[in-house]
Amino acid sequence: MTAEMSQEQYAESLFGPDEVLEKVTAAIAERGMRDISIAPGYGRLLTLLVKSVQARDALEIGALGGYSGVCLARGLKPAGRLVSLELVPEYAELAHASLKLAGFGDQVEYRVGEALDSLQRLHAEGRQFDFFFIDADKGNYPNYLDWAIKLARPGALIVGDNTFMRGKTTNPMEKGNGVTRLREFNERIAQDHRLDSVMLPAYDGLAIARVKD
Ligand code: MG
Repeated sequence: MTAEMSQEQYAESLFGPDEVLEKVTAAIAERGMRDISIAPGYGRLLTLLVKSVQARDALEIGALGGYSGVCLARGLKPAGRLVSLELVPEYAELAHASLKLAGFGDQVEYRVGEALDSLQRLHAEGRQFDFFFIDADKGNYPNYLDWAIKLARPGALIVGDNTFMRGKTTNPMEKGNGVTRLREFNERIAQDHRLDSVMLPAYDGLAIARVKD
């Protein structure tokens, strides 16, 4: 070590480069998309969590450029499937390209449009999941949590990103709809009797809940 690093930088420096995810990040940047993908260590955590529940079916709400999708797909069982919900067609397209690049193009299914409509449809189709990653519009987080619990197999994990909303959640002056609904989501993560949960004050805040058997 030469210069002093942040704890996050130090933790990251312990791991080798991830060529696939670096390509994915470059492709996202090339499209001029805002860089709001999850951090590499966070991606590793997602892979590890998906693996630890031996997930066959994962559901992602908010595909963006496909970075988190790759991390989720890496954790799935060999014949596992990822369903990814995305509002913007161009994002779904880019995400699919990322998954193809990582070798998971055939294991992912994109559903473009309002996530709440897609969730309703998945429920009507009788689909169930072992893992959920919520990383979309904050105003709907409580609704996404309801759907995740409804679509969950016993023991499923629900992970929610950006629970601190880059400082908004803890700032009492912030009273907009998104942050209000996100606080409601966070409280429900902590209090819902159907869940065993933890709220990690890492990255931009990370909720992890397990749906009780
Ligand atoms: Mg996010």
